[in-house]
Amino acid sequence: MGKIQKFFWILNFAFVCGVFSEEELNLIHGRYIDFDDLKQKVNILSFQLESPTMHGSMKGNTNEVLRFQIDSPYYYHRSLVTRVSKPIKYSKGKLLLPADFVEAIMVLLVENEVTYRIQDNKFLFTISGYFKIEPEKIDLTAIILDPGHGGTHPGAISVYGDEEKNYNLEVGKLLAILLKQKFPNLKIIMTREEDETVDLNERFKLANEGLKTSKNIIFISLHCNAALTRTETARGYEIYYLDQSYKIEQEREKTIITKRLIDLKSIPDVQKIESGMFSSSVQRRSILLANSIEEKFGETIAYKIPSRGVKKAKFRVLRGSIMPAVLVEMGFLTNPEDAKLLADKSFQMKIAQGILEGIKHYVNQRE
Ligand SMILES: [Zn+2]
Repeated sequence: MGKIQKFFWILNFAFVCGVFSEEELNLIHGRYIDFDDLKQKVNILSFQLESPTMHGSMKGNTNEVLRFQIDSPYYYHRSLVTRVSKPIKYSKGKLLLPADFVEAIMVLLVENEVTYRIQDNKFLFTISGYFKIEPEKIDLTAIILDPGHGGTHPGAISVYGDEEKNYNLEVGKLLAILLKQKFPNLKIIMTREEDETVDLNERFKLANEGLKTSKNIIFISLHCNAALTRTETARGYEIYYLDQSYKIEQEREKTIITKRLIDLKSIPDVQKIESGMFSSSVQRRSILLANSIEEKFGETIAYKIPSRGVKKAKFRVLRGSIMPAVLVEMGFLTNPEDAKLLADKSFQMKIAQGILEGIKHYVNQRE
């Protein structure tokens, strides 16, 4: 069976079966995918290019359109502008797409569920069971997505030498794409969209600005964990919620003074992020949000990575602002199994889906 027929077969029978063979695309110079190669396997894709301006648009079998410009690393989806790792190229009649732009195509333009990974200069993907994001209205005005660290702050380093900041951003971007598609009415504020340094004060300022324009808002910070000692084999995800009890407030000042005396690097993320103002309803909602995400992770990622449960922490980033807030530690970069999963694109997608479902579950339960 030819590749093209095979793809039709997949589309027609995706409902019945569910597991399909993996397709592969060669990466040109290790980073670009030729659109013609992609179209051979995913024939529902098409693009148009306006010759004088070199503005392009791409469509698939969803109602979405991705707009881009040749030699620019940005693409536009609805009102969201996203930067990819390399500019989109057009040379000798060939449209060359950076691998992370192909990811966005798979997520936004292909109606079926697609899993993919990048390995040995190949983009490997499987189109399987039917997965369609139906836009819904959600009773939430805004979400602040905070991919932890960035720029000169790499965060934890994985056993394979990768930096935490990149995984936080990759999952953050995927989550933003999914949220935009699922809940078109939701405003998404990202504390960073690139590899840039954003200090705690800036994150705090952004959070408060968000609060000024909308009251019905939540805050989600994304991080990866690291064991404090090399011999520790800890693994799994854990969700922290904003703890604002009175006792914590008293202890806070004391802790800050003690913490200044020890190496900042040895303090877990959650302790670097604290909050001051007490609000019992915000605290209840933070717990509910944390529990909802943990519950949905149980359905999306727990078969691959264990849960370490829901815990409380102090969030300095939200000091003085009042909104439900959680910090997701997606796994341990110091654990080889976790580190491998966190680097896997389709696993990152599952994390993003789990958080999206968690947010939805939270809003449905909230009083
Ligand atoms: Zn972190």
